[in-house]
Amino acid sequence: MNILVLNSGSSSLKFQVIGTDPDRAAENRDERVCRGQIERIGGEAIIEVQSREGPRKTFTATLPDLLASLEYIVRWIASDESEISEVRSLSDIDAVGNRVVHGGELFAESTLVTDEVLKGIEQCIDLAPLHNPNNLKGILAARHVFGPKLPQVAVFDTSFHQSIPEHAFLYAVPYHLYRRHHIRRYGFHGTSHRYVANRYRALRSLSAEQTNVITLHLGNGCSAAAIQKGKSIDTSMGMTPLEGLVMGTRSGDIDPAIVNLVASKEGLSPNQVEALLNTQSGLLGISGLTNDMRVLLQELETHEDRRVRLAIEVFCYRARKYVGAFLACMGGAEAIVFTGGIGENSPAIRQKICQGLEWAGLRLHEDRNKAAVALERQISADDSTLHAFVIPTDEELLIAHDTVRCITEQQQAPRPARLPKVKEAGI
Ligand code: ADP
Repeated sequence: MNILVLNSGSSSLKFQVIGTDPDRAAENRDERVCRGQIERIGGEAIIEVQSREGPRKTFTATLPDLLASLEYIVRWIASDESEISEVRSLSDIDAVGNRVVHGGELFAESTLVTDEVLKGIEQCIDLAPLHNPNNLKGILAARHVFGPKLPQVAVFDTSFHQSIPEHAFLYAVPYHLYRRHHIRRYGFHGTSHRYVANRYRALRSLSAEQTNVITLHLGNGCSAAAIQKGKSIDTSMGMTPLEGLVMGTRSGDIDPAIVNLVASKEGLSPNQVEALLNTQSGLLGISGLTNDMRVLLQELETHEDRRVRLAIEVFCYRARKYVGAFLACMGGAEAIVFTGGIGENSPAIRQKICQGLEWAGLRLHEDRNKAAVALERQISADDSTLHAFVIPTDEELLIAHDTVRCITEQQQAPRPARLPKVKEAGI
């Protein structure tokens, strides 16, 4: 099957076509047919595309909206120029898998898109006003381009974390705020945490029941997840992706009283303070230089800069603190799994995070850690009792697999699609 995976943003559209089916997924024989992204939708857009391992090509075109962008992509895929022999027309795409940021408490698993599901995604707009409307537009654009008969699946960033128990997802604020406004921890990056936990399970030949890991997704956005018996039981991001670890430009945890204090001292509105916490904080805020970890590490190599050093120290300290907290919540874990741009590519940051976790039985293998750059590898010593692994994330592949699974399940047991039940999330 050729699955078109879509990640629709406010002014961008990322896509991949993945050739897969249940057998190929089980045997790790999926095929990345093509991938690309369109940025600056709404004006003169920049389009980047790549077929298989071929060269990356860049074009520009005037693309007013998501629909025009999707039509452009589909035309390119089916054109001779793309050199993709298996997709020559619309009918060669078997299904569309869509990333959807927020599924609230409605969606604990990926689901076939129906009108009822579209309504559910719409109901979650309050929880993710910047993301869900664009995710919806992407689904509707695909419906328009491929017609309503082509199966579409929605895969939610939040659904993996729907297994988090009440005592971990409730904030200690008046309970009616949860009842009235759904104020609670949802967690994000669920597709990434689920993917790497799944890969870890496959690498170690474990059952879901035996999979007890702490996953650290460290990219521009960063989050940790405590995965017990294959299910997420806690995570660092909260009601929004602002809570938890230090990120590129996001503060992560702060005392909530700071918001009012900064607003009054700096003459800002609460909205402006929230924007400051989202876009001017984290690595950028402390270093005063950049949100880019690679640049910060290069800076430190060439000269001492106290704030750059501090930014990295605060980043690693916070990550280690969460690992310690989650070890306590889980009663110990078998491994820590690093993923995301920083987690996959930076031995120095991994080493700093793991420093001081020897008490928990973690012994990093220096050479393995140094060699593991963008590779799936164990980086702990063999006699370590708490292991560490690097597993590059692949959210698109998981979306493609979920899409195939939802379609296959429906074919095997035809029944009217309805909203899936909560508390089924797991790997
Ligand atoms: P996003 O969350 O936007 O998907 P990524 O997962 O691509 O982001 O992560 C981006 C981060 O990864 C940036 O801070 C970048 O500097 C960092 N990064 C990428 N390669 C390296 C590297 N070799 N060493 C350190 N950091 C790196």
